[in-house]
Amino acid sequence: MKRTKIIATLGPITSSQKIIKQLILSGLDVVRINFSHGTHQSNGEMIDRVKEIRKKTKKSIGIIADLQGPRIRTLVNKELKIKEGEIVRVWDNFKKAQRSITPTKYFALDWIGIIKKINIKDKILIEDGLLQLKVVGKNKNYLEAQVIEGGIIKNHKGVNIPDTNLKISAVTSKDEKDLKFALSKKVDFIALSFVSNAQEIIQTRKKIQKIIGHSGALPHIIAKIERKEAIKNIQEIIRAADAIMVARGDLGIELDESRVVIYQKEIIAHCLKSATPVIVATQMLNSMIENSHPTRAEVSDVSNAVIDHADAVMLSGETANGKYPIQAVKVMKDIIKKTEQSPFDVLKHGFLQDRNQSVSAAIAHSAHELLKDTKSKAIVAASVSGFSARMITRHRPEKPIFVMTNRETTYNQLSLVWGVESFILPDCQTLDELIDQSVETLKKEKSIKKQDKLVIVAGRPHIVKEHMSLVKVEEVR
Ligand code: PEP
Repeated sequence: MKRTKIIATLGPITSSQKIIKQLILSGLDVVRINFSHGTHQSNGEMIDRVKEIRKKTKKSIGIIADLQGPRIRTLVNKELKIKEGEIVRVWDNFKKAQRSITPTKYFALDWIGIIKKINIKDKILIEDGLLQLKVVGKNKNYLEAQVIEGGIIKNHKGVNIPDTNLKISAVTSKDEKDLKFALSKKVDFIALSFVSNAQEIIQTRKKIQKIIGHSGALPHIIAKIERKEAIKNIQEIIRAADAIMVARGDLGIELDESRVVIYQKEIIAHCLKSATPVIVATQMLNSMIENSHPTRAEVSDVSNAVIDHADAVMLSGETANGKYPIQAVKVMKDIIKKTEQSPFDVLKHGFLQDRNQSVSAAIAHSAHELLKDTKSKAIVAASVSGFSARMITRHRPEKPIFVMTNRETTYNQLSLVWGVESFILPDCQTLDELIDQSVETLKKEKSIKKQDKLVIVAGRPHIVKEHMSLVKVEEVR
């Protein structure tokens, strides 16, 4: 059994019912729909297909709607060749730039007003930093920038301006529309790109609550860490978000790329301590976009994320528009399984430095200790919101964690959480009823057998209340 979860981005080559089903059967746990691409119609159809398949296969599969966020893009008439040392004009009003009679080469950024926020000496990076310019002059219409790394500027390519805090909201007007659409489709997660601080997450949650009303099930908010500001405010962001994504693509452009793995390790450690699920994303098996086998360095990267104790690892271009999407999921699953069978993924004693003195934290700790001391086969936990499951799983137990919940949203959201296999169970009135129903369900699944010992974790009344108050060892009869 694989414990670290796999997220795959769906795209043009993986949008059909047949391929989505194959991805799920190959080891996929969560799908990501990237709202930087596609239309509401095409993205909506993919969501509907995943929902149909998860219903048919009775699997808990999470759906992430990943909002584009304030992504700045280039605007050029035709492709523009720029050479090292050359001075180029950078406008933020493309129409005005086209009307101006200028002998100088120019392009525009698709964000009117942005040049006011950019300062002299700031770097402008285009297409994942492939092309680099440095601002050397500025007036109210355009910037003058010197080319540091030349190449060809193509239309609609991503731009990063890492030196300045541009103070652009993480939710743009496009995101507002996409958010409303994603909520109408009842997705399980909303991913926010280019988050800077906790307030942006809190405000978005309020917005979501207003749209869906207080009775609706809230999607979890995933904060994508890809900005300098986010690294600075990482503790408050982890406290405010439901999950974190180490978005290494932009993180490596906005910050020093040679420190990306250090950020990855630090962020995962913080998340484990606060029981917040964490995803490692981008370029994990990048060469598999073209090749049927990964490079050794990519294999090592996936292994390393497992050893770091990430909850999930993510595929982007590999499954959205690569040549070997099914193979990429299979390869990832294989690397995860082999790494987890090794001793290297075991959480070191004292790693959590647990100063959390809550009853829930103590119960989760006791459950993990009991699991080892009594040589039990699994932990069975009742959880309404998924909180209890996350408190237990942060100890990274070696044995299965079966979570019983009465909420469909929680059931699907737990697909992101390390090591958890979730089941839907109706409300139970007594502890005996909860244990009987759980055992019956797990026996039917052939996950347990007679005489197996189980560590049971519950609240009171059972399943209705979130906070754990009870831990008990039970033998299957
Ligand atoms: C990233 O930058 O690593 C990332 C996951 O974001 P996106 O794919 O949305 O650019």
